[in-house]
Amino acid sequence: MTAYPCRVGGKMSRLTNLRKKLQEKELDAMLVLGAANRRYMSGFTGSAGTLVISQDAAVLITDFRYIEQATAQAPQFQVRRYEDYLTTVKEVLDEYGCRRVGFESDIVTYDQYTKWQEKLEEIEWVPAPGLVEGLRMVKSDEEIACIEKAAAIGDEAWSELLPHMRPGVTEKDLALELEFLMRQKGAEALAFDIILASGPNGALPHAVPSHRPLQEGDLVVMDFGARVNGYCSDMTRTVVIGKACQRSRTLYNIVLDAQRAAVAAVKAGKTGKEIDAVARGIIADAGYGEYFGHGFGHSLGIEIHEPPNASATETSVLPKGAVISAEPGIYIPGQFGVRIEDVLILGEDGCENITKAKKELIIL
Ligand code: ZN
Ligand code: ZN
Repeated sequence: MTAYPCRVGGKMSRLTNLRKKLQEKELDAMLVLGAANRRYMSGFTGSAGTLVISQDAAVLITDFRYIEQATAQAPQFQVRRYEDYLTTVKEVLDEYGCRRVGFESDIVTYDQYTKWQEKLEEIEWVPAPGLVEGLRMVKSDEEIACIEKAAAIGDEAWSELLPHMRPGVTEKDLALELEFLMRQKGAEALAFDIILASGPNGALPHAVPSHRPLQEGDLVVMDFGARVNGYCSDMTRTVVIGKACQRSRTLYNIVLDAQRAAVAAVKAGKTGKEIDAVARGIIADAGYGEYFGHGFGHSLGIEIHEPPNASATETSVLPKGAVISAEPGIYIPGQFGVRIEDVLILGEDGCENITKAKKELIIL
């Protein structure tokens, strides 16, 4: 079995924390099916499995393919193999006397829910959306260490990509090189598909790398992340090929000023909306408000996008230990885009920026 350093220890407090939530909500148990929640609670990384967690129970129900893996990865769980899924779920709930059972109503499908209602009619199913996600908002030191490692891989890979960036090289070739560099430096996977967009393609915030060759004067937006022990990093840098026109420089510096000002304002206890407003205000004052059409940032961890966000509509408070991205941008349709993104760890008095790559405009 592979070693999973980030998932050694810490699981007991996660179980304790979820059990407190169950008590507050007067739930006998919680069924956890969502892949990220399942991994967070148990350490199990397989594609199929259900956790039954009550005050006494920590049971992982899975099928033949995963028994050995589940036993190794989730030592705090009793692993049960099922032949008929619902029969086993019923057995476990009966065994622990669970009747009022919470479930991830934002993840479970309508078909699954209907089957549960039909076959386990004695159970009172209680929607409990976001319960585990709520625990995941505050990252432990071991989780932060994984994200930092992933961020360092991103920083290093990007600096080694720069010498490859010159007129004539295509977006696709550069994205492939960047993926190679991240994997070579220890990424187990990409955190998400690389965005590498040159010239007018940069105006699409989620552009897919194309066969377009870089051209003199292009702004190139690169948004990418590595995955380490299941945890994501996320960074964006925008560079210029050849010579930067005055307009590129001006817009780049507006985004940089907005990003720096908002990063300086980030601390635990503020809402996502307050943080977003700092960056948005600077971009709007410069006359480009309508060209910054997405939120300032999002939380990240096991998933690349986790709640809470740092966006114009986010009214929840960001807790100490939250890990968020800081990524304002300006996108001029048909012309170019600029985005700069770092990842921040929130403390009581400010934040720690774990993305170290240079942010001043680089002209290659
Ligand atoms: Zn990103
Ligand atoms: Zn992001």
